[in-house]
Amino acid sequence: MDQPSRGTRAEDAERPSGPTRGADVALSVADVVKTYGSNRALDGVTITVRRGEFVALLGPNGAGKSTLFQLLSGLFTPDGGAIEVAGHDIRKNAVPALSSLGIVFQSPTLDQELSVLANLKFHTDLHGMPPRVARERIATELAAVGLTERQHDHVRTLSGGNKRRVELARALLHEPTILLMDEPTVGLDPRSRREILTHVLKLKRERQIAVLWATHLVDEADESDRVVVMARGKVLKAGSAADLRRDMGTQTLSEAFLKLTGGEASEAA
Ligand code: ADP
Repeated sequence: MDQPSRGTRAEDAERPSGPTRGADVALSVADVVKTYGSNRALDGVTITVRRGEFVALLGPNGAGKSTLFQLLSGLFTPDGGAIEVAGHDIRKNAVPALSSLGIVFQSPTLDQELSVLANLKFHTDLHGMPPRVARERIATELAAVGLTERQHDHVRTLSGGNKRRVELARALLHEPTILLMDEPTVGLDPRSRREILTHVLKLKRERQIAVLWATHLVDEADESDRVVVMARGKVLKAGSAADLRRDMGTQTLSEAFLKLTGGEASEAA
């Protein structure tokens, strides 16, 4: 198997320096390590997402994307390295760090037997929002995903695409600095996939929200500001889709990705 060029370039591209350090950074992942027994699921991962930036985290199955998201959402702690969200260290300052995150997990997490509204209300209560603010935020986000009319329906009656929209609306209720999307289109039909991606790109443009979008689907990374390619727990390369095509000498991002990830290409199709 070809060993992709790794190390300095990807890491340097991801390490914030000079004027980008600090206030401009929505998410900083620095040299993060996570092991499961002898398996290094994350092996010194450094990723930076700036405010208002859409970063696609592209990697084949087993790359470590979900493990990274579990650390980012505070479910587990890293064995090494540091994570900061909106300038708050996730270990030392967990409350402001976690309240700056909006998360859509890979597996659905809505209560199917409750209404759309009750699911959203549960989230605003968790965040301690005053009732009037909560009502306004819920109305705004439901309208943004086009589900105002369905708010009293049970979640179980919604299509897969609409359930994802509710999860997206929920993730935005507390106005996070960064939205984490862990393979958010898995199991959706092409039209619903497209709608979710278009909506998130619009949020980025209109609200300057930062986005980290994990995917193994190259077409979802094509419209991002930057692509971070991961495999086997390491960042192999980071840059715009154009940078990656140029550096890998390919016509398409898909070819660049296949060249970088070598033998794991078939898993990434
Ligand atoms: P991805 O989301 O990119 O498919 P994962 O983060 O799920 O990658 O997996 C990264 C590596 O960590 C894989 O080798 C996987 O087998 C391993 N792994 C993930 N979760 C666990 C776990 N709970 N216990 C042991 N190994 C795990």
